[in-house]
Amino acid sequence: MAANSPPWLSACGASLKRPLCGRDAKPLCLLAEGLAGADLAASEPPALLVGGGRILALGQEALDHAEADPAIARQALPGLWLCPAPLDAHVHLTLGGTVDANLERSQRAGLAAVRDLGHAPNKPNPRTPSGGPPWVVGSGPGLGALGPAGSWLAEGLSGSEAFRLAAEARARNGSGVIKVFATGLLDFEHPGQVLHGEAVGLAELSAAVEAAEGAGLPLAVHASGIPAVARAVQAGASSVEHGFFLDRATMRAMAQARVSWVPTCAAVRAHAQDPEGRHTPELRKQLAGIYQGQLQALAVGEALGVDLVLGTDAGSYGLEHGAAIFAEMECWLEAGVRPVTVFEAATRRAARLLGLEHSLGSLKPGAQAWLLALPGDPRREPLTMARPTWRSF
Ligand SMILES: [Zn+2]
Repeated sequence: MAANSPPWLSACGASLKRPLCGRDAKPLCLLAEGLAGADLAASEPPALLVGGGRILALGQEALDHAEADPAIARQALPGLWLCPAPLDAHVHLTLGGTVDANLERSQRAGLAAVRDLGHAPNKPNPRTPSGGPPWVVGSGPGLGALGPAGSWLAEGLSGSEAFRLAAEARARNGSGVIKVFATGLLDFEHPGQVLHGEAVGLAELSAAVEAAEGAGLPLAVHASGIPAVARAVQAGASSVEHGFFLDRATMRAMAQARVSWVPTCAAVRAHAQDPEGRHTPELRKQLAGIYQGQLQALAVGEALGVDLVLGTDAGSYGLEHGAAIFAEMECWLEAGVRPVTVFEAATRRAARLLGLEHSLGSLKPGAQAWLLALPGDPRREPLTMARPTWRSF
C-alpha cells in the first residue's frame, strides 16, 4: 500500500482486503466518487454493495440495503473511482519465464483474467492458479499448418478433417477457445508482407469454426494481411489476432460480422525498441514503420466500429506478463483511440470475448468483487489502472 494512502485507507487498513475478496466476506457498502464500468444512471449514487467476494448491488439499491441492515458496514471513498480489474485477451504463459512466474506477474499487475493463445504441443496447458486471479482461458496448443508454414506454438495439421478433429479434441480437453495460426509471422524485412500468408485455407478454417461452435467455443485466428484476415472473417472466426496490414474494406467487413480485433501493437513496438539489441538499425526502422502503420489502422478500425479488444502477446520479445497490458494501452492512446474505448477494450469487451462477461469486466450484481480504486475516472485516463490507489485482491 502506498505511503501516502488517503485517510479512509488507514482507517480501515488491510482489513478491507479480506472482507471484499473472501467467500465468507461480510457485506460492505462502498460509496465512491464514481463508478466506471457500471450500467448506472447518472442520477444514481456511485455506491457498490459487496459481500462473499461478489458484487451484490449498485447505486440506490446498494444504499437501501445498507440502510435497512445495520450489520452492513459502510465505507466512503472520497475522491476515488471504482472499476473492475482489466483482462489481457492475448498472452503466452509458456513464454518469457515459467508459467507460475508469469501468472504471478499477471496477478501483481492486477489482471482479472488472461486468454492464453497457444503453446508448444509438448507442454501442459496452463491452468488458473487456485481460484485466481487471474483466471486462465486457454486454447492449448494452436492448430496450424504442417511444416515451415506452421507455428511452433501449434500442432501441425493438414486438411479440414484434421482441423475439425483437433478442434474437437481441444474442446474435450478443457480449452476455452480454439486458436488457429492461419499465417506465419510478419516479414520484418519487407514491410506489408507476411510470411506464409496462405498457410491455412478457408476449408480448414471453416472446419475449425464449425467444431468450435459445436462445442460452444469461440475461434481465435492469428492472421495478418488482407487475404488471410478476409478468410478468417468469411469462415466465421470470433476474433482476429494481430491483423497487421489491413485496409478499410477488410475492417468494415470485420465490423459488420462483429469479429473482434486484438491488434497487439505493443509486441511490434517492443521489437522496434529492441531492448536486447537483436536487430540491425535498418530493421528497427522497418519495425517502427510497421508499428506506426498498425496505429493508423487501429484509429481507422475504431472509426469504422470494429470491436477492438485489448490483448498483448505478453511473453513475446520485450513484453513482460502483466505490465504488457499497460504498454498496449499506451500504444492505443498514441494511436488516438478514445480513452473510453481503451478502458472498455480492457474490461467489458475483453470479458465478453473470453466468455466471462457475467463475472468480470464490469460492475454488476453477481460479478467478482475484483476492484481497483483509482484517483480519477479510468474512462478518461485508462493508464491510472496501472497505479491504483488500492485494489481488493
Ligand atoms: Zn500470440
